[in-house]
Amino acid sequence: MPWMQGYPYYLIMGSVLSLYMGVSSCRYRNTPGRRYLWILLLLVSVIFAATAGEILSESFRAKLWWRNLQQAPLFLSTIFTYAVVKEYISRSSDGLNRRLALFCIPVALYVLLIFTDSWHHLMRNGVGMNTVAGVSGIVVHPTVLNMALIAYDQLFGVYAVFLLAVSLQSASKYHFKWNVLMLLSLLIPIGSIFLLPLLRITMTGFIAFTYLPPVIVGYFSMFRDPELSLYPHAKKQIIENMKDGIVLTDRFNNIIDINEAGELMLSALAERTEKSWLGKNIFLLLERYGEVAVHYYQRLEGQFELDVPGTDGSCYGLSLIATEPGPGMSAGMLIVFSDLSEKKRYERELLYQATVDDLTGLYNRRHFMRLIENYALQNEAGIALLLFDIDDFKLINDTYGHMAGDQALTDFSDKILRMYQNRGIAGRIGGEEFAVCFFADHEEAALAEAEKFCSEMSRHLVRLDGGQRISLTVSAGIAFTKDSGATFEALYREADEALYLSKTGGKNKVTLGRQPALREARSL
Ligand code: GH3
Ligand code: MG
Ligand code: MG
Repeated sequence: MPWMQGYPYYLIMGSVLSLYMGVSSCRYRNTPGRRYLWILLLLVSVIFAATAGEILSESFRAKLWWRNLQQAPLFLSTIFTYAVVKEYISRSSDGLNRRLALFCIPVALYVLLIFTDSWHHLMRNGVGMNTVAGVSGIVVHPTVLNMALIAYDQLFGVYAVFLLAVSLQSASKYHFKWNVLMLLSLLIPIGSIFLLPLLRITMTGFIAFTYLPPVIVGYFSMFRDPELSLYPHAKKQIIENMKDGIVLTDRFNNIIDINEAGELMLSALAERTEKSWLGKNIFLLLERYGEVAVHYYQRLEGQFELDVPGTDGSCYGLSLIATEPGPGMSAGMLIVFSDLSEKKRYERELLYQATVDDLTGLYNRRHFMRLIENYALQNEAGIALLLFDIDDFKLINDTYGHMAGDQALTDFSDKILRMYQNRGIAGRIGGEEFAVCFFADHEEAALAEAEKFCSEMSRHLVRLDGGQRISLTVSAGIAFTKDSGATFEALYREADEALYLSKTGGKNKVTLGRQPALREARSL
């Protein structure tokens, strides 16, 4: 038979194939269900190689040595088949290593015996040579002890089949398919042990081939199947139920995985509803967010905060994570969305509390000062600082009560806001003291502004909750400068002194202070 001439080389190919599968899956060995499969693949590879060695050797001694070499992996492969199935089915391997070590003790003894000249007769009644179809190998006549050991070993295979069969009852639809396939393929080596002698097939190395179907199915189901090889099922559940949106894209920028939160967040950011974003191009999102797109297309990692369009202050954080270490243009990207809306709202609330006066809604003193310090002079315009102090305010409190005083303050602030909010900055800098800062061409313009405001206020009546109407008068002090080097302190001091003059001059008055820079120059 010409095809039989290649027989040893088929065995070598089987060895190389198993070796490749074992080595390539070695790095995933920490995942449950796969810890033992890569060892099993290596054992099968040794079985193939040693069988090829047996056939290719010329002398009887060499053939026997190769045959003996096959024994340990042959026996161990059944035990490891059990280990693979046990771990794959139960997903728990507590104490399995220890049990395996115990199970292997008889195998170790057996191997010791067959390699020991004076003791090997305990296992073998005789050893001879046999040639079938031009393939010559060793024929062993086992002792009862040897048969018992083979039976012991086969128990593990039978138990593995049993475990797989039981697991079919509770397997998900997805796993069912693979488990049936694994079960059927596992029946091949186990069945052959019994069937080959019955069918009188005595060809050397046939057993090795029977191992190929189960290890190939195991390899493809546990290592290569995308469901199981990318991450275990449990991890997928975690990702699916996460509050954060997870989106995975491939090198063509198509979405290849997305969880439920990811679907919702992507729809909100891209302002379009898709039945599922799976398979869609991430461009649909990136076209709206230029900065993210620049990072994404260069496969650069980064963190961004994106306002969700059409919402009142909702904000999502977006993290770009490379799926390959280093800039790999051929890789996809992992995009993680997190809802920052609560955090943002809290930050805004804190900022509001730190900068705005509770009662009046105007900026508080600290924030007003900070804003003025950053208020750069524009063009040729000067800057005017107006200080207002309500006259005899204590009297209002004393006459109408503190609540009425509060109402008057709110009313006064509303007036200031309405008059200046689009033109400058207004703040409450003390109890009943207010400040306004704006650009003015010259000091007379600022003076006219202040006088207009004060006279309007003197005509204005504050309506109190109790129905009473009270009138207020205001004193004002103005500081004006065109000097871009003038400090806020100098400007404030000037306005305060002018305000003092208004007060001492009889109240309900406006006083324009001298330009601080000029006055300082004169006092030199
Ligand atoms: P002057 O004309 O000299 O400015 O006299 P005044 O009474 O307005 O000034 P004074 O500084 O003597 O009194 C200010 C009063 O403002 C004292 C304080 O009880 C009152 N006040 C300060 N903050 C508040 C507030 O938030 N609500 C109320 N109702 N009153 C306040
Ligand atoms: Mg005062
Ligand atoms: Mg006052």
